[in-house]
Amino acid sequence: MGKKPFVTKEQLDNIVKEYPTPFHLYDEKGIRETARNLNKAFSWNKGFKEYFAVKATPNPTILKILREEGCGTDCSSLTELMMSDRCGFQGNEIMFSSNDTPAEEFVLAKKLGATINLDDITHIEFLKEAAGIPEVISCRYNPGGVFSLGTDIMDNPGDAKYGMTRPQMTEAFLKLKELGVKEFGIHSFLASNTVTNEYYPALAKQLFELAVELQKETGVHIGFINLSGGVGVPYLPDQEGNDIAVIGEGVHKAFDEVLVPAGMGDVKIFTELGRYMLAPNGHLVTKAIHEKHTHKEYIGVDACAVNLMRPAMYGAYHHITVMGKEDQPCDHMYDVTGSLCENNDKFAIDRMLPKIDKGDVLVIHDTGAHGFAMGYNYNGKLKSAEILMKEDGSTEMIRRAETPEDYFATIEGFNF
Ligand SMILES: *Cc1c(COP(=O)(O)O)cnc(C)c1O
Repeated sequence: MGKKPFVTKEQLDNIVKEYPTPFHLYDEKGIRETARNLNKAFSWNKGFKEYFAVKATPNPTILKILREEGCGTDCSSLTELMMSDRCGFQGNEIMFSSNDTPAEEFVLAKKLGATINLDDITHIEFLKEAAGIPEVISCRYNPGGVFSLGTDIMDNPGDAKYGMTRPQMTEAFLKLKELGVKEFGIHSFLASNTVTNEYYPALAKQLFELAVELQKETGVHIGFINLSGGVGVPYLPDQEGNDIAVIGEGVHKAFDEVLVPAGMGDVKIFTELGRYMLAPNGHLVTKAIHEKHTHKEYIGVDACAVNLMRPAMYGAYHHITVMGKEDQPCDHMYDVTGSLCENNDKFAIDRMLPKIDKGDVLVIHDTGAHGFAMGYNYNGKLKSAEILMKEDGSTEMIRRAETPEDYFATIEGFNF
């Protein structure tokens, strides 16, 4: 029952001896397997490529592992572009799906030869002025309204700041064609963290139909369709995960039904998954350092929201394993807290767990994406190290922890 960490207690005891807690631990074997299964699920499509959303886990070692598995990167900022470049990703291995984009970021994206994905119709003129219009370009679509699967409302695109309306898509394609674009792409991201095999196929069908319409209306060559991110992971222990093979086949079916009869069977499918690729392949490892008995029972750990913001920010559930106590009854109700002067700095509220003693090592699950990456420096707290567990079980530090001197490094005009 429940979730099992990808490390054993014995392995983790050794790792904790070498690296002080808290730290993020990544599982290289799991990352490679996830990438291989994704590529297999979409192998029916000749040009398929996953562009890993760098913002989920911006670490060069992780990006290089993914590159070895055939993935590119999806960037939306200057530093993400720079990191991709420094990791050796070539132009067509980089997607630039930004919004509210500063000119300098378009300039770098164009210089690197990244595929630019325009978020708005006004960005055509802006890009033309800033960097010039490339021959390959993509436009981001937002149909508005709500996105539902059957009777389930999945998300609310009508409230989202991203993408162009349906009439703007036509107008943008015509304008870009006039400006010399040779190959077009369509991108859309309509629902986040979906835990259903239906999301990608439903999105794909919508985008494939749109592609056929746009091609008829504008006569342009549509080279690729980017399904973006949004395939989620089961954060809850009793939740069933997605089956990527079923998802791949669902997209395949829509492809054969819509694009092939329209003579568009050469369209490449792209994805920009972040969470699906990395979340389950990362743990936040932390130690219990205090117990407090007041109006509630508290366990204080040495990690805080600076290391993992999702619970504080979204009330997100992250499963916790108390290492070595997997078989003990969950008969204690705890709030598991960090040390920030913010009452929402809690990794778990009213969570039933085994009795926790000071010094116990806790694994917080599914932190490999949007975990370390969302960290900040509130309360002057420092970001943790990132450790990679390799396929042979050995470990490597792939980012050191911040030091107080890092924190003070940007302060000018004072001598501390
Ligand atoms: C955040 C983001 C992704 C990745 O989303 P996940 O939910 O991590 O899969 C992909 N593309 C764009 C443009 C994004 O902003």
